[in-house]
Amino acid sequence: MKVHILLGPPGCGKGTTAKQLVGEFTLTHLSTGDILRDAVSKGTEIGLRAKAIMAAGKLVDDDTVNGLVFARLQGETHDVLFDGYPRTLQQAQALGTFLSSQAIETGLVVDIEVPENVLEARVVGRRVCSNNDCGAIYHLQNKPPKVENICDKCGSPLKHRADDSSEAFKSRMAEFNATFQPMVDFYRGGKHYRLVDGNNTPDKVFVTVSKLFKENA
Ligand SMILES: [Zn+2]
Repeated sequence: MKVHILLGPPGCGKGTTAKQLVGEFTLTHLSTGDILRDAVSKGTEIGLRAKAIMAAGKLVDDDTVNGLVFARLQGETHDVLFDGYPRTLQQAQALGTFLSSQAIETGLVVDIEVPENVLEARVVGRRVCSNNDCGAIYHLQNKPPKVENICDKCGSPLKHRADDSSEAFKSRMAEFNATFQPMVDFYRGGKHYRLVDGNNTPDKVFVTVSKLFKENA
């Protein structure tokens, strides 16, 4: 069993790449959100602790996240693909220590790089259907609706979410970079680290990443 890691900023397309990889290789896809939901629904001790932290409106701390992830890895037989974990330097270091202690091999650490102005354009151009039952997503440049500002599927007006504003994007990125960069520096230069150009169509990114996985199988 090996543990592979997909890294990259929000909106870099790593969720899509992860889904494509799971379709092609025998991999267990683990996102922290899924692990968290699973532990909470099973009512494990650490799951309940995480639930209490979230209920108090706080961010789940590194130690709790690590504990959830390590518990989830126990008994896993397939190669694992992490998407969205580790998120901080502390998590990356703790994961390294844990994997060594369990004699689990680190596979690939794939870093999907997308320039910030491209990420911003992806977010700022996004329009969503105002009908919550529909929820269709469009993009002014990449996937415009047939009629301006009207949903193709249900005819409702489209809206620009506050979260998709340039200001909201910039503040999220600043917060993200502060924890992400030290973590990437931890992996960069290591023998598992691969930098992939994510400023491309999802299919082209997938071709590049799947080639890396084939070489590493
Ligand atoms: Zn709609």
